[in-house]
Amino acid sequence: MEKNRLFKKITPLLKIDSAVIEFEKLNFKKINVNKVWHIEQLIGYDAIILDASNLEFARYFINTIRSHHNTEYYLKPLFIYKPHPLLDIDLHNMYDGEYTSEKDLPEMKQIVWDIFLKTTEIEDVLSLSYEAQIIKRVLNYFYTRGINEIYCTKSTFSNYGYVYPMLNAILKEDGESKGLDLLEWAEQEGLITGKFHERIYLCNKCSGGFLSFREVCPSCHSSDSNTEDLVHHFPCAYIGPMSDFEDQYENELNCPKCNKNLRHIGVDYDKPSVIHHCNQCKADFQDLLVHAKCICCGVDTEVQFLIPKKVKKYEIMKKGKLAAISGILASESQKIIPNMIRFDTFKIMLQHEIYKVKYYKESALLLSGIHLNNLYELQQKIGRHAYDRLIHDLLTEVKNMLKSIDLVSIDNDDTLFITVLDADIQETNDILLKIKTLFTVLIYDNFKKFEVDIKVATIDITTDNNIEDYIKLLKKEL
Ligand SMILES: [Zn+2]
Ligand SMILES: [Zn+2]
Ligand SMILES: [Zn+2]
Repeated sequence: MEKNRLFKKITPLLKIDSAVIEFEKLNFKKINVNKVWHIEQLIGYDAIILDASNLEFARYFINTIRSHHNTEYYLKPLFIYKPHPLLDIDLHNMYDGEYTSEKDLPEMKQIVWDIFLKTTEIEDVLSLSYEAQIIKRVLNYFYTRGINEIYCTKSTFSNYGYVYPMLNAILKEDGESKGLDLLEWAEQEGLITGKFHERIYLCNKCSGGFLSFREVCPSCHSSDSNTEDLVHHFPCAYIGPMSDFEDQYENELNCPKCNKNLRHIGVDYDKPSVIHHCNQCKADFQDLLVHAKCICCGVDTEVQFLIPKKVKKYEIMKKGKLAAISGILASESQKIIPNMIRFDTFKIMLQHEIYKVKYYKESALLLSGIHLNNLYELQQKIGRHAYDRLIHDLLTEVKNMLKSIDLVSIDNDDTLFITVLDADIQETNDILLKIKTLFTVLIYDNFKKFEVDIKVATIDITTDNNIEDYIKLLKKEL
């Protein structure tokens, strides 16, 4: 108490109590294992000081806020106090510095402001594919921290033995090993570039990497077996396991076929190989199978059927940094389809239509949407080239079914937008259902029975909202 008062006199801009440190207009919320906290309450503070002496709690807290989907939480400046020495292993880069005493506050203030400024540059884009959404969160975080490298380390805290801090935290529930595919995707999109680090093998059912390798019996797959030397007796050419030659009473080797004593290895006998005996099915065999049992899901597979994966260390490319601040991810630029209206142009034209409707009060305007919910899954299978061609074909089909004055375009989230002038909702919905059936059949027939999930909706365009509101409204319906 006394000390605090004294401090206040010297630096009036510093105020410390048990829960919050106030320093030059910044509020640092103190968190430790003994305090009750609610994540929603953290929004009111500029930064967090986490007592990280309890490793388990610190790990839980950091992963919770960093894996939150809202930038207000996952980009929040976070400092640690009394860090446990093991904390940095799998949470490397997931906090912004260490707080030891008040003398660190000026430097922390600078860090908080740097992060704030960079956070204001972040563009939040909602209409992204699953991959893009996850990768964008990772890129956003690293961008606000000025970090160019996606660090990776081996760790028992990950179900495949490696941790990419941030990415693993986000994917904890979805399956961490998915991160390897996401990073591969981001590399293909030119957002990051990787250098080989290690090869790993994953379970072909659950993608877990926690595998137990065992030699098993080729007939019954049990790992309960014994191995013996195989003995070849030269004089009589008998070959059999060592136990056939062992004398129960004397410490010498006797041939079961010719009854002679075995004298010197290399002279009258040798051990050409080994033989395995299964204690379960009693089979004798020479070649064992190697199986890997997944500790997560229990599946036991021959090693040749495991999924090989490359673990890489990644560097964030210029395009990756731009993805954080402009929201442009590579998958967005691909939707420039020849002879089709680009989505930004479409929005301008739609705005123009709205003005016209406003002016000529008698005409009606509808906005329809067709959302191809799982098309990105198909994209992963068939590749970008074939996917672009498919989109082109789909848009052409739609154009053929519309009046020439209606506009059609597609956004980055596989939603087709159609403006329909002077038609009623029922008529429009009938056309949409026809399109839906056509798309379903077309994709099913041409892409190995892929079942596309399509939603359609139409909204009435009145003139009192802006264009982005209408698009949002329609997307909500889809
Ligand atoms: Zn598994
Ligand atoms: Zn067996
Ligand atoms: Zn013999």
